[in-house]
Amino acid sequence: MPIRLLPPQVANKIAAGEVVERPASVVKELLENAIDAGATDIRIEIRQGGRRLIRVSDNGSGIPAAEVALAFSRHATSKIATEDDLFRIHTLGFRGEALASIGAVSHTTLSTLARGEDVGTELRIEGGELKESRIYGGVAGTLVSVENLFFNTPARLKFLRSEPTESSHITKLVSAYAMAYPGLRFQLTDNGRLTLQSPGNGRLLDVLVKVFGLDTAQQMLELPPQDGEHSAPTADGVRVDGYVGAPSQHRASRDYQLLFVNQRWIQDRSLSFAVEEAYRTLLPAGRYPIAVLRIAMDPQDLDINVHPTKREVRFREPRAVFAAVQRAVRSLILDQAPVAPMPALPKPVTPEFWSQRAGSPWGMRGTTGTAGQAQMALEVQRTPDTSRPMHEQLPMLRVLGQIRQMYIIAEGPDGLYLVDQHSAHERILFDQLLAEKQVMSIAVQNLLQPLTLELLPQHQAAMEVAGPQLAELGFDISPFGGATYLVRAIPGLLEPDEIREVLLELLDSASAGHDSAANPEAMLEVIACHSAVRAGQTLTLDESRELIRQLEKTTSPYTCPHGRPTMIHLSTALLERSFQR
Ligand code: ADP
Ligand code: MG
Repeated sequence: MPIRLLPPQVANKIAAGEVVERPASVVKELLENAIDAGATDIRIEIRQGGRRLIRVSDNGSGIPAAEVALAFSRHATSKIATEDDLFRIHTLGFRGEALASIGAVSHTTLSTLARGEDVGTELRIEGGELKESRIYGGVAGTLVSVENLFFNTPARLKFLRSEPTESSHITKLVSAYAMAYPGLRFQLTDNGRLTLQSPGNGRLLDVLVKVFGLDTAQQMLELPPQDGEHSAPTADGVRVDGYVGAPSQHRASRDYQLLFVNQRWIQDRSLSFAVEEAYRTLLPAGRYPIAVLRIAMDPQDLDINVHPTKREVRFREPRAVFAAVQRAVRSLILDQAPVAPMPALPKPVTPEFWSQRAGSPWGMRGTTGTAGQAQMALEVQRTPDTSRPMHEQLPMLRVLGQIRQMYIIAEGPDGLYLVDQHSAHERILFDQLLAEKQVMSIAVQNLLQPLTLELLPQHQAAMEVAGPQLAELGFDISPFGGATYLVRAIPGLLEPDEIREVLLELLDSASAGHDSAANPEAMLEVIACHSAVRAGQTLTLDESRELIRQLEKTTSPYTCPHGRPTMIHLSTALLERSFQR
């Protein structure tokens, strides 16, 4: 084929693909336009996860009648004019691509009246073509309705996830903008139901109450603003404020970490890592902190023109930003958190040392520690081989006692065994649940008094996905109007005071975008984990013996359902060598 310029329709569709990946991308662009237009009240309405309809209305400046037609042209923007402007961007938009992209892949209607003008304009665009332009008689501001998204790009349509998943992406997005702009009122209506409304009173904490719920928000720690008159000047020009979770408020995913730079919601792995580093040794493995951090800096130290969606940014001094975030969070947590950090590993032979080594499948992982440590680590052997088919067997164990209210000590044919009471119990309960589930007879307990749950917006959407699976697990949950749900029955194993936590975790993973509502086994893991005996609980000798007896009957007694070891083994040979016998 000869080289040709692509017709504008085709070029637009290609470019649209970069900006508009899914319904939430449309909402993002329309929100940003409303914010840039100085709106204080922004209402978002979606139907069928945004596929059928996304409507955003604002009370911002509106678009002057003389300019409206241009708004849908690619690279048409009122926000920058020259190349130099790229280095002092104070608006969320500047690329002039969003409306053109949205118009190219949907049926879009834009109705707008500029402040100070008498007559407004309404445009109808279908697949990038202007179909109609007429006078609009509404109030000042802008209303954009996007219908039948991706009607002309079937490939994109195919990649969309289920309706509740797309709608939960939108909920998260609106929540994030409400956090970035606590002074603006955001209202989200999903299939006719009002799911989120931020007060717009300028207080971030009040937005967090709406998004995370009162319990969570109240326990969070405030990073005091650093630009107030009382705050110390920051040497590197980076200011960090916001709220972070107390170490006890950890979550199963990074979904509760939101980072904003100059009021822009960004994704940055290294900054997430900086936050997590600040909690080092304070959180259990595999758990993540909650954090809503607002980072402010001179726009000149920031390149936001990295990606069409502007979710990634580049810092001129990435290390300074990393350090500022880590320092701010760490000092707040150490100041306020009652938990002391665990000490670093002192000597080769410590329980921490062994359990660290045990984290790998009993061999060597990582290369930390001295050669001597490595040598010893290799000798901590795992009795059976994981690759052995079918049923693994425990050696005969004689329970000696419990230490740190956490580990059961037992003697076996070849040395000493330390059993982690929580992981061991988790394995037992998981196997039990799995067996019950396979024959469709999970034990259920009916609650004498139904429990009322107020679900957060993203969890309401997730409930629609996960509802049937939850029912299979023994939950009886029904909507009770608005955000309220009634729980009438729960899995038999579960302690009633764990219900909230368990449901929160299950709904979180359902809303994280695992369609088919995640795999049922992962759900069983969550229930097993929350039902299992905790570290910190004293066990009598009899209870310990019973635990070991039940563990013997499980399919994989050496690992908990998450794959962590349930026990470590200090062989006789190792003990002798360690004592230089
Ligand atoms: P950008 O936001 O990058 O400038 P867009 O394609 O999103 O590009 O919008 C094009 C232009 O249309 C904007 O620069 C702005 O002037 C105008 N516009 C879009 N949405 C609104 C709105 N809600 N209120 C006022 N003006 C708007
Ligand atoms: Mg824009």
